[in-house]
Amino acid sequence: MKIIGSFLEEPLALGVPLKRLTSYRIGGPADVVAFPRDTKALTSILRFVKQEGISHFLLGNGTNLLFDDQGFRGLIIATTRMKKFSVCKEPSGATLLTAQAGMPLSLLVWRAARLGFSGMEPLWGIPGSVGGSVACNAGAGGSSLCDIVSKITILNIHGEETELEKGAFSFGYRFCDLPPESVVLKTSFQLDRKNPDEILKTLENFRNIRRLSQPRGFPSCGCVFKNSSNGLAAGELIERLGFKGVIEGGAQVSNVHANFIINRNKAKARDVLVLIEKIVESAQNRAGIKLELEIKVVTSGK
Ligand SMILES: Cc1cc2nc3c(=O)[nH]c(=O)nc-3n(C[C@H](O)[C@H](O)[C@H](O)COP(=O)(O)OP(=O)(O)OC[C@H]3O[C@@H](n4cnc5c(N)ncnc54)[C@H](O)[C@@H]3O)c2cc1C
Repeated sequence: MKIIGSFLEEPLALGVPLKRLTSYRIGGPADVVAFPRDTKALTSILRFVKQEGISHFLLGNGTNLLFDDQGFRGLIIATTRMKKFSVCKEPSGATLLTAQAGMPLSLLVWRAARLGFSGMEPLWGIPGSVGGSVACNAGAGGSSLCDIVSKITILNIHGEETELEKGAFSFGYRFCDLPPESVVLKTSFQLDRKNPDEILKTLENFRNIRRLSQPRGFPSCGCVFKNSSNGLAAGELIERLGFKGVIEGGAQVSNVHANFIINRNKAKARDVLVLIEKIVESAQNRAGIKLELEIKVVTSGK
């Protein structure tokens, strides 16, 4: 693994506890973590791992992930250093805001607001990166990224850059149907023009809603389960099943929002997984509802 470092002249970290790279503050050590600074470096790393058959995982801000207590055997590729941002006028006359995968989504929303671009306000406060948020079609307040994405540049399975216009891919609930194994390099957004002060006021409102409805002060991964299609929000269902406040080891079903399982006190992945299992079983047996995970559980690579 050290060879990759000298070969690509990229900073590599060995034996990094994944709890340091995730909002959950859970996860054992990753063998190696790479932090490519640009597309060229990311491309070289991906080509290399593919050629050598090295197990790897792409990490954004780590806010939708539960890593194993055993950590990850292989290479974690973190996009956090790739956070360029630009505003440009298209030949069609439309102005697009373009952000690299590693740019924090909230920073993008903030910058858009300051520049007088409206349409992203409900996404304010989602702690993911742009790339991770596109991959998960992150959303809040009735809107999601798919509403404003204009085009995406991906690195495809062969290590080639491809630009996909809206329509060449589809989005679903917390899901983006990108070609298999592709990596989001950058995303362009088309937004409306509005007075920046008005947008900033709206951001403030969304921030207050978030503050009142979500647990604060403890690490989490946001909502653990997807809302089911029967109209009952997963949090409400979990609350009705009596899980609010239930503790397992260091993890607890939040007393504020039952779809959050918080890391109350040095929780292990297995504590969270036990709670997940109990909730899923209860939802199935007592309400006939099959709950699906919104978070991604990553078990150790080979
Ligand atoms: C307090 C809190 C509140 C939250 N609120 C919301 C909310 O309101 N709405 C919501 O939708 N989510 C919410 N989330 C969940 C999370 O922030 C989003 O899902 C976010 O979009 C994930 O982005 P990320 O960069 O952290 O992705 P990660 O967690 O790092 O990765 C998630 C997935 O995306 C993949 N991925 C990452 N980067 C790329 C890339 N460049 N190309 C392709 N795939 C990639 C990863 O491999 C992984 O499969 C919340 C989380 C927390 C902790």
